[in-house]
Amino acid sequence: MYQTGWRSSHQPDSRLMGYTMSNRIPARIIDPAPARMTPAAAGGPIHTRSFNGRYRQLRLLGAGLLFLLFFGTAWLNWNQRQAVLWDLASRKFHIFGATFWPQDLILLSAILIIAAFGLFFITVVAGRIWCGYTCPQSVWTWIFMWAEKITEGDRHQRIRLDAAPWSLNKLLRRGAKHAIWLTVSLVTALTFVGYFTPIRELATDLVSLGLGAQAAFWLFFFTAATYINAGWLREKVCRDMCPYGRFQSVMFDSDTLVIAYDAERGEQRGPRRRDSDPAALGLGDCIDCNLCVQVCPTGIDIRDGLQFECIACAACIDACDSIMDRMGYARGLVRYTSEKALQGGHTRWLRPRLLGYGGMLVLMIGLFVMALLDRPLMSLDVTRDRSNLFRENSAGQLENTYSLKVINKRQQAGHYQLTLDAADGLQLAAPVSLQLGAEDIRDLPLSVVWTGEQPPPARQRISFVLSIEDDSSAPVVAESTFLAPVRY
Ligand code: SF4
Ligand code: SF4
Repeated sequence: MYQTGWRSSHQPDSRLMGYTMSNRIPARIIDPAPARMTPAAAGGPIHTRSFNGRYRQLRLLGAGLLFLLFFGTAWLNWNQRQAVLWDLASRKFHIFGATFWPQDLILLSAILIIAAFGLFFITVVAGRIWCGYTCPQSVWTWIFMWAEKITEGDRHQRIRLDAAPWSLNKLLRRGAKHAIWLTVSLVTALTFVGYFTPIRELATDLVSLGLGAQAAFWLFFFTAATYINAGWLREKVCRDMCPYGRFQSVMFDSDTLVIAYDAERGEQRGPRRRDSDPAALGLGDCIDCNLCVQVCPTGIDIRDGLQFECIACAACIDACDSIMDRMGYARGLVRYTSEKALQGGHTRWLRPRLLGYGGMLVLMIGLFVMALLDRPLMSLDVTRDRSNLFRENSAGQLENTYSLKVINKRQQAGHYQLTLDAADGLQLAAPVSLQLGAEDIRDLPLSVVWTGEQPPPARQRISFVLSIEDDSSAPVVAESTFLAPVRY
């Protein structure tokens, strides 16, 4: 029970003085002074205090890796081409040596589904650990907070600056902060857009002010989105917009690792001298310094219990551990634990839900790898000529015409052979063999003729078979129909 801030009922209440002159029984109103309000509840800007500790180092490591991946990969080249590029113009997705075509969309969807299951799995194990350490919203917010700190100072200096009237000093500090925010936002936007349009050309166009309208729009859009999200919205994105934050609680169970305050050990909270004996004072280990609240980027008080606003960044653990060290108490008043462990039980690591998600994840990854390895590196699409169901050619044969689209998805050129798999009497009007360059697409018209002596059936299924010469890959097959007059 949070007692601090409640006025003692034995203190005289100045508002009641004089009231006892009445002949009524004096009613004494116990009007509690408001409990210390969290920044989140106060609704104003949250001035997070920066704090170092082992979990901050872990966050820095997570952010560093993410940055390296995000900013570095965009500039990497692979086989004389940008290593990761979603080429919207030619509708191809290059990822290192592999190229995915629109026909491979199912594989890309599978990657998203696997990523979602990976997130479910991690959530069951360790709650919102993704949010605190690697979510781009959190990582960019930490970067923006760092910019805030080096330009406007730490928490108390920023609070003072907020309250101060406008001056040259305030203007310069605010200006420097926004300049850094905008620079980070622009570089982020450039990198992000650079995954969809070659980044080297994009950067050159930006520097030479030669951006096209579309590129300029998207650069502006993502710069503004980064600036607003990480600079202004911050915890509101996690609290009010992020769907994951809302539904993650259904994945939690009593064994899930969460960041929690050990109320059993911490209460009764209250200030005391370092050399005092808490037991003699009737106090627990929490000295009510409020440091865990000041370092919280979402402005909540972890001592109020598990809250959906908590992004599990562990800043409050670092803060509280430092206080425990200073007081000479054991660390871990705020710590990673499970609900079960907090209640004196043992955290169960292997449990049905976790095994279920883990099993599904392994199965899906296995199926994905198999599908990836089995992915045909050529594609064949056949469309019947709908304007002319059949006709008689100059040799007097019944003929159907088709349009073929052949795609060589490989990184090297190849010689392709097209054959027909159909009933006797049906054959290609002319043999088809094609030379296609790497990632080449070819459209070609094609005719199939009936050479049988008897009139053909009105409708027959036929298969076009495409194979690569000197390659063991399985041929690809496209089905179609051969139509004839009902009575020919
Ligand atoms: S309560 Fe602790 S772990 Fe949760 S967001 Fe705040 S500082 Fe991070
Ligand atoms: S940092 Fe620790 S000791 Fe200080 S108020 Fe928070 S829980 Fe209590």
